[in-house]
Amino acid sequence: MEFIAGVNIGGTEIKVGKFSDGKLLSTKVLKTDISNYGSNIMNDIFMAIDELSEQDTLIGIGIGVPGPVTNGFVLGAQNIGWEKVDLTKKVTSRYPHVKVAILNDANAATFGELAYGSAKGYHSVVMLTLGTGVGGGIVMNDQLLEGASGSAGEVGHIRVKEDNPRHCTCGLFGCLEQYASATGVVKTAYELRKEKDTRLNKHNLTCKEVFDFAQAGDEISQMVVEQMTDYLASGCATIANIINPEVIILGGGVSKAGEYLRAKVASKFQKLCFYAVKDTKFILATLGNDAGIYGAMHAARML
Ligand SMILES: [Zn+2]
Repeated sequence: MEFIAGVNIGGTEIKVGKFSDGKLLSTKVLKTDISNYGSNIMNDIFMAIDELSEQDTLIGIGIGVPGPVTNGFVLGAQNIGWEKVDLTKKVTSRYPHVKVAILNDANAATFGELAYGSAKGYHSVVMLTLGTGVGGGIVMNDQLLEGASGSAGEVGHIRVKEDNPRHCTCGLFGCLEQYASATGVVKTAYELRKEKDTRLNKHNLTCKEVFDFAQAGDEISQMVVEQMTDYLASGCATIANIINPEVIILGGGVSKAGEYLRAKVASKFQKLCFYAVKDTKFILATLGNDAGIYGAMHAARML
């Protein structure tokens, strides 16, 4: 049997999936060894692929990398210790007769949702990954948009707040990520809960709790969610006004708030977007943590 390996390199974990005909057969999860500037990572991945091979024939490898990528060339991936590296060459020298696709991890996840997940059947989509930060990917007419320096789809750094904006880890102020990520939601909750009668007055508050409390009727939690969805809808309107996708996919841990979140963003978007992009649909991602390996596999499969 012929198979393709879909790989997602994360800051703490690496996932390797074995796919045949687009179906996920088995996976292997490795710890990301960031020692020595991440120099063991690729060997660890190669070993995992070889173990997954068994008697089957490897015909393709797709890898999602946590950093900017253009044309198979990684421009850097700080959180795993990598500088510029020609990853395509590295993989090809180990597996000379195999199709190799290297892409950014958020782009891979977008590709995965497009080809195998919630956005199946669409051709032009934007995905927002609402996790610890806010990432994203853009596919137009089935083509992944990488941008001149591999940073297309970095929607987390759209400026959504002008007055008294939060400082972002990127160095800018008022970035969407500061308000629509899990971290941002908790920050807003800490701001709004002060000396008020709310269920938010507990230690180690999580973003999930804020959404749960809001749905259970806690007023301050609802204010937090309203604020978050205002900014998120504003960011989505900016994106849609520029690239006019068919759908915007909401993914990442925060999107587990589900229909409650989706419906709010979709309706607020209507009041903020340019009239000609009002038909933009909002959908929830369905592949969860597997979106990246599906997308990496798909990219290799399409070569
Ligand atoms: Zn930023």
